[in-house]
Amino acid sequence: MSDVMISTEPATGNEIWRGKIGDVDEIMERAAKARTGWARESAPRRMEFMRRFANEVLKHAEPFAELIARETGKPLWEARTEVEAVKNKVEISISAYAERTGQKKLDSALQGSAALRHKPHGVMAVLGPYNFPAHLPNGHIVPALIAGNVVVFKPSEKTPAVGEFLVKLFHEAQVPEDVVQVVHGGAEAGKALVGHPLVNGVLFTGSARGGIAINRKLASDPSKIVALEMGGNNPIVMLETPKIEDAAVTIIQSAFTTAGQRCTAARRLVVLDSMYDEIVPAVTNLAKRLLVDEPFADPQPFMGTVIDNEAADLLVQSYEALTSHGAEAILEMTRKDDSLPFLTPGIIDSTAIDERPDVELFGPLLQVIRVKDFDEAIAEANNTRYGLSASLVGGEPADFERFWHEARAGIVNWNRPTNGASSAAPFGGIGLSGNHRPAAYYAADYCAYPVASSELDQPRASIGVGLADAVKTTRKSKDAHK
Ligand code: NAD
Repeated sequence: MSDVMISTEPATGNEIWRGKIGDVDEIMERAAKARTGWARESAPRRMEFMRRFANEVLKHAEPFAELIARETGKPLWEARTEVEAVKNKVEISISAYAERTGQKKLDSALQGSAALRHKPHGVMAVLGPYNFPAHLPNGHIVPALIAGNVVVFKPSEKTPAVGEFLVKLFHEAQVPEDVVQVVHGGAEAGKALVGHPLVNGVLFTGSARGGIAINRKLASDPSKIVALEMGGNNPIVMLETPKIEDAAVTIIQSAFTTAGQRCTAARRLVVLDSMYDEIVPAVTNLAKRLLVDEPFADPQPFMGTVIDNEAADLLVQSYEALTSHGAEAILEMTRKDDSLPFLTPGIIDSTAIDERPDVELFGPLLQVIRVKDFDEAIAEANNTRYGLSASLVGGEPADFERFWHEARAGIVNWNRPTNGASSAAPFGGIGLSGNHRPAAYYAADYCAYPVASSELDQPRASIGVGLADAVKTTRKSKDAHK
């Protein structure tokens, strides 16, 4: 098997990067040697390194954004927002570390003191996806480094160039090379990392299939901390509102931003019968106007390509399978050029399909499902094994209160898109969307473990009850009073 990896630009098919599949054993040895030194740096010093990294990101912001746009096919404007998120992650993670896993003095019943402190796990393997190839792995890497872990990062095999650039910026910021390393490879390299005896934790963002495989592999090894951020089959429930245009924009942003390649993208629009004839044409007309073009086009497009031809083929096949099983085409998803993965937004009405497949179709395809009332809408929203995000559009405060209580998801919004979550909040889902270790603001929690200590400057101890000598002495002293 060749040990060379090649990455191509989805929008042109041109080669963008070429490199070697990494040697996991060698990289792990180096990581394991670096862990004690980094863990013994003070937390403020590690934070200083991270602030330097943020400066490096700022310094290289434009070439970084251009590389993200080229390697993922997303528009340049969007790649710029990703770079901004990478930089902002540093201050957010510093506050999160202090608030969630810092040090605390505790009341001590004894003389002396008691404290709660946190320790790093050691060597963390970070496995990244392709849709946000910098921001999402960085959301594990920065908190892990602040907490004192060392990191071995395996970028998606579809975006190795961005992964390498990200790690280079840590090194430019003087973070020692063995403290954060990149290893290239596909799922095989990921499996080798997950099962490696020197790995202490696995921080994964990717598909439910990948996450479940990792969970299974580590089922008999409770020593490794595992954080799984996985996909979704996210609903938007549409109730009554007079603001049809704003509702349509919210739905479009939810379904088609990043060409639908967001874990939080809305896949299902659950519409009340009474709203159907107003909202579905409004969404369809707006979707027809979305520009689909290459990342650097002028004017800038709303969306670029999906990640590769294989993904585009799969999406077109899924569209065709759904329509041949009873779904009604509302807006056809088309491929502009069979040799490149540009797709136009697709909208279908899947109400007539009895058993809709509960799978994540990771691209610009929105399924509409008609329901007669709010009860049915909530049941349909929850009709999935996933549970990442859910939005309610329209309705009254009491409707949202009910939706908030009954929607099964880690992100529940009102009149806001299903995507675009804040890094300053925890981010994670339930069901097949995650393993209850949310990332973003709560990433600090899985990057360190708590250690409780009670401390005296010298041994000082006594046994008050139950010593043989003490019994005699007590008896004697009682007799003396007789
Ligand atoms: P993927 O699961 O194919 O791959 C993710 C990473 O894991 C890659 O680096 C891959 O090489 C590695 N990998 C895959 N299988 C593995 C295994 N068995 N053992 C070890 N490593 C393995 O995901 P993808 O296609 O790159 O990304 C898209 C998916 O990611 C979508 O499902 C999307 O919803 C999800 N996602 C989730 C979040 C979130 O925060 N919840 C964010 C972004 C993307």
